[in-house]
Amino acid sequence: MPSLQCHIPTFGHVLDTYGIAIKRQPITTLQINVGKVCNQSCTHCHVEAGPLRSEMMEATTFQRLVELLQNAPGVHTVDITGGAPELNPHFRAFVRTVHAMGRTLLHRCNLSVLFEPGQEDTAAFLAEHGVEVIASLPCYLEDNVNRQRGEGVFDKSIRGLHLLNGLGYGQPGSSLKLNLVYNPGGAHLPPSQSALEESYRQQLAQHYGILFNHLYTLTNIPVTRYARHLRQHGQYDDYMQLLVDNFNPAAAHNLMCMQQVSVAWDGSLYDCDFNQMAGLPIGGTPLHIWDVQNLEQIPRSIATASHCFGCTAGAGSSCGGAIA
Ligand code: SF4
Ligand code: SF4
Repeated sequence: MPSLQCHIPTFGHVLDTYGIAIKRQPITTLQINVGKVCNQSCTHCHVEAGPLRSEMMEATTFQRLVELLQNAPGVHTVDITGGAPELNPHFRAFVRTVHAMGRTLLHRCNLSVLFEPGQEDTAAFLAEHGVEVIASLPCYLEDNVNRQRGEGVFDKSIRGLHLLNGLGYGQPGSSLKLNLVYNPGGAHLPPSQSALEESYRQQLAQHYGILFNHLYTLTNIPVTRYARHLRQHGQYDDYMQLLVDNFNPAAAHNLMCMQQVSVAWDGSLYDCDFNQMAGLPIGGTPLHIWDVQNLEQIPRSIATASHCFGCTAGAGSSCGGAIA
């Protein structure tokens, strides 16, 4: 079988072809993956999260992050992801602290976790602390959601959105932001973000009375569980070719790794959550949050690999949706 390199160029080579050099600019967002424990086990999950995982960020690691944030006033946003972050026992204490520091808090929520035992007041807690919720909903059709995320997940997602709307999330004039995330159910690129947002808005309002602020379309990045899923179905090479063929230089100028760093549950640093899961350390050299005195010491170089083509294909993809 020919190797990938025979027909897929390196990401660095394609950037060179377009004269693009990607370097980290001053960091504005700290993305923190607080653990791999999740109540779901979605087929596309690049974190390989699930109920049987045990990795969880510890209290001392959260405390170190608070210290680093105190010395980094330019980092205005803290983006909390997982797994299901709510399941980390230190999640609420960290949210309270960061909220008191006046930073913007983003929280990536799978919605169904809001109905797990012990999570009954999580939605109210998020609202009380002004946390922006970014919720996964890969389709407005039940079958498509359940196929990707598990049986019964669509119903819980709709209940979760009703709960959040009831607290003021996504309502006109409310400061509580509720953004939804779409990712493709198959080995294809997302459709137009603005057109799909309009369809979501109509469908969710008409059938469920649900309101939200924005829809983010994300490309499935071919690492870990999703890469294996593609290989098992004989789709990996074609999907990589699709990503390469749709390289968009405009997206490459605005990659999310250029303004943020990603912290793993154990405090190790990465250029993004995808590199974290691929085991590719920040700038290519292992570095830990206890190795730096402040976030300005983090190197500007960014480690790239073939999965980076997922961020530059078509309209581009980031944790905040389409780029270009
Ligand atoms: S809900 Fe999110 S973190 Fe959990 S398995 Fe699904 S994609 Fe992964
Ligand atoms: S996968 Fe990560 S490092 Fe690669 S382009 Fe995307 S954000 Fe940047």
